Amino acid sequence: MRTHYCGELSAALVDRTVTLCGWAHRRRDHGGVIFIDLRDREGLAQVVCDPDRQAAFGAAERVRNEYVLRVTGRVRRRPQGTVNPELGSGEIEVLAHEVEILNPAAALPFQLDEDNLSEITRLTHRVIDLRREPMQRNLRLRYRVAMAVRDYLDTHGFIDIETPMLTRSTPEGARDYLVPSRVHPGEFFALPQSPQLFKQLLMVAGFDRYYQIVKCFRDEDLRADRQPEFTQIDVETSFLDERAIQDLMEGLIVEVFRNVLGVELPQPFPRLAYADALARYGVDKPDLRIPLELTELTDLMRTVDFKVFRQAAELASGRVAALKVSVELTRKEIDDFAPFVATYGAKGLAYIKVNDRAKIPDGLQSPIVKFLPAEVLRAVLERTGAQNGDVIFFGADKAPVVNAALGALRLKIGQDKNLVEKAWRPLWVLDFPMFEWDEEAKRWSAMHHPFTAPRDGHEDLIGSDPARAVAKAYDMVLNGWEIGGGSIRIHRAEVQQKVFKALGITEAEARAKFGFLLDNLQYGAPPHGGIAFGLDRIVALMAGVDSIRDVIAFPKTQRAQDLLVQAPSAVDEKQLRELGIRLREKPKS
Ligand code: ASP
Repeated sequence: MRTHYCGELSAALVDRTVTLCGWAHRRRDHGGVIFIDLRDREGLAQVVCDPDRQAAFGAAERVRNEYVLRVTGRVRRRPQGTVNPELGSGEIEVLAHEVEILNPAAALPFQLDEDNLSEITRLTHRVIDLRREPMQRNLRLRYRVAMAVRDYLDTHGFIDIETPMLTRSTPEGARDYLVPSRVHPGEFFALPQSPQLFKQLLMVAGFDRYYQIVKCFRDEDLRADRQPEFTQIDVETSFLDERAIQDLMEGLIVEVFRNVLGVELPQPFPRLAYADALARYGVDKPDLRIPLELTELTDLMRTVDFKVFRQAAELASGRVAALKVSVELTRKEIDDFAPFVATYGAKGLAYIKVNDRAKIPDGLQSPIVKFLPAEVLRAVLERTGAQNGDVIFFGADKAPVVNAALGALRLKIGQDKNLVEKAWRPLWVLDFPMFEWDEEAKRWSAMHHPFTAPRDGHEDLIGSDPARAVAKAYDMVLNGWEIGGGSIRIHRAEVQQKVFKALGITEAEARAKFGFLLDNLQYGAPPHGGIAFGLDRIVALMAGVDSIRDVIAFPKTQRAQDLLVQAPSAVDEKQLRELGIRLREKPKS
């Protein structure tokens, strides 16, 4: 139907006759001459219709926005002064000989170039939204990333093997999406939270290097970087230790950035222990573009009279830390940070404004200075390296509260005060604990997942002192986003049993849920490990958008709904009966 894409036309085609197909992006009637900007996926071309060619002109008069057209005409240079350097085809235009309306279009719910559309509007009319240039760009970027991933993994001997979508519950720690079985009334499949156990079984089966770009399903509360269904680049290998896997996977991400964006990521990626990440940044996915760090003060505050600090410092799980900030902050800004950190559980936000560091205490402006002895104040100035004009914020509480509050404050000040370096700052976070204490359930839960191997020599700690057992787990972090996480897996049934026991999973439960894994670990399981990257997050970072919804063609809303097709939806009584299901509550809609 066509000879060229609109966006591909250039001065090299002057005097050639071309046929284009696309959408009428804009139509301008200049009294006697009609201009149509014709759009296809490659871009725009300007079509000129003059009244000499009656049929073409007549059709052009009927054209409205988003009509689908087929235009044949001659490429010519634009008159001097009307060249558009913004456009690939900006030097030329097409003098229309024929204009055929292939399909008219109803008035759109919004114009393609409208800014500030609400997300509800965009997702309800997603097809129109996807026509917009940024969305076209994002999805093509996503495709190029996926292709670069496949290329790299293929070159390194990985093969793509599909795993089931209808399966049983996998333990990534989120809620499952369930699918009722018609053939087995009362029984349910779970959609996979990840292919974790299947990829391990593929290693036992001898495939050695597996990958898959695969949908995963987790029914959890949604945020900008979470969707009920999202895409992982899922990888597993045999006979490689964690360092070798990390190097191979670092190579993957470096290659993707190089191929797709022409960006050279700084290598090798720095490696940071989990404990150091928390100590220095308050979080396990630090944004290294922000040049602010926490300072440890717990030891220093054990001796002071000031109760708020001393009590926190004396707690077994307590922490006192400081965040020094070297930018101008108004009194109001400082005051507004207190309610901000309160949302992270902090009960207050003490601070010292350093007016003259040589004068202790008079050079220090703060409600708490009078409670702290001069030598402690001096030590605080020394450890934080505070200079005149700086502000030092304090956190004193249980360590998780201090970390969350000061970690978030660090990000907020970094962003509000434009301290974020324009750069890519990847890193590895290593040495995660095997377990974390679940305060609500009053039991240990797996920090990564229950199949993660302990550090060599830590096998016995699993039973005796779970808090101290370190895992062979690793996360890749980029600019404050966790973009990947993985581990070496347990390949011996008896170690796997120990972990289940520590997690409070009885032998009977373990058999019932993971019998297939335990059995197969006995038939010659190789040492193995892997990782999964969040494709949506990687593409969102590369595209420079805040939400992964902007790099997914048909995403769900924050309330886990698809507004385009209106899912989820009620189903017929007949369907329910076939599945042996009676509803406890009728759907609201
Ligand atoms: N299955 C893990 C996850 O989805 C990743 C891995 O350990 O490979 O988080």
